[in-house]
Amino acid sequence: MSRIFLSAPDITGRERELVTEVFDSNYIAPAGAMLTKFEEDMCKYTGFAYAVALASGTAALHLALRIVGVSAGDEVWTTSMTFIGGASPITYLGATPVFFDLSAEHWTIDPDLLETELKRAAKTGKLPKAILPTDLYGQSCDLDRITKLCDEYGVILVVDSAEAVGAFYNGRHAGSGSHCAILSFNGNKMMTTSGGGMLISNDKNIVDQARYLSTQARQPVIHYEHIDIGYNYRLSNVCAAIGVGQLEQIESKVEKRRAHFDRYVEAFSDTPGIKFMPEPKGYRSTRWLTCLTFSKEMKTTRHDVQKACDAAEIEVRPLWKPMHMQPVFKETKMIGGSVCEDLFDRGMCLPSGSGMPVSDQNRVIDVIKSVVDG
Ligand SMILES: *Cc1c(COP(=O)(O)O)cnc(C)c1O
Repeated sequence: MSRIFLSAPDITGRERELVTEVFDSNYIAPAGAMLTKFEEDMCKYTGFAYAVALASGTAALHLALRIVGVSAGDEVWTTSMTFIGGASPITYLGATPVFFDLSAEHWTIDPDLLETELKRAAKTGKLPKAILPTDLYGQSCDLDRITKLCDEYGVILVVDSAEAVGAFYNGRHAGSGSHCAILSFNGNKMMTTSGGGMLISNDKNIVDQARYLSTQARQPVIHYEHIDIGYNYRLSNVCAAIGVGQLEQIESKVEKRRAHFDRYVEAFSDTPGIKFMPEPKGYRSTRWLTCLTFSKEMKTTRHDVQKACDAAEIEVRPLWKPMHMQPVFKETKMIGGSVCEDLFDRGMCLPSGSGMPVSDQNRVIDVIKSVVDG
């Protein structure tokens, strides 16, 4: 039996043809026409004015935070329940993360907690340098509330939309209204370049800076001249070709993941103890991964389901282990925590790749049904 992955790459468009075009041009480099096209296409799709393609989402976030001015001693307020790549760039800069709980209504950073803490911090003159919400599992954060709070307190907003290419919030793409947002094209994300990321912004200066720092901060002179320390963070032109092909199909990729989600919901509609990740009105989640929880009243736990799926060659995983529960962040401040701790305790994500055939999904459903009680 072949293994069913959580989110396998789905390469069914013009990717191979576009990569061949790159080979024919001999621009096998972190420069070339495909990079420009990829950035322009992403701007068109997301409605952002400027974009720079980078080696990873983590690299994009590192640059984003550095460019908006995060430095040693600053606080960055972010989501506890996230992937490590969404948090570690804060520490690369010597800044201090403060982790926040999620709202149970949308599973993204709780705007009420943010508001309370901003009010408190403003009084003591200790506002964070930036707020960094995560668009968890492809659901946009509450952009209206958060952009309003950031405006009110003069705090910079950077959105981690790594899982949310194709997510919309009241008709605007995820990350809209922020100073800048970052995307990931890792192999398991909504779309892939085999590995890659992007920084998108309506601020030309931010994207120009990112382009400059991502190519070793070279001054525009013929000899190599440096007045800043940069990075080698640019995406390759070859990978950009894969990205162009993937982006052409992003809408159908979102639709396929959403259809998987709907099928899972339907399959477990007579199991009241199983609840799925909510999607409030006005949000369009990418449903990057279908997430569910098992109620405390059920005999079945996520560990039972994990065991059964492991044995059946099906990759399932718990939801992200919150950052404040990670040994590496054990000294870090946490605001609230009961929502994400509970989700980690009882939650799970299921195979959701846009290329997953329905027959594979049925295999997943059957295995889970064979272990859940009532
Ligand atoms: C994947 C991911 C990242 C990091 O992206 P990479 O391209 O893997 O470096 C950051 N944040 C979140 C929420 C992610 O899921």
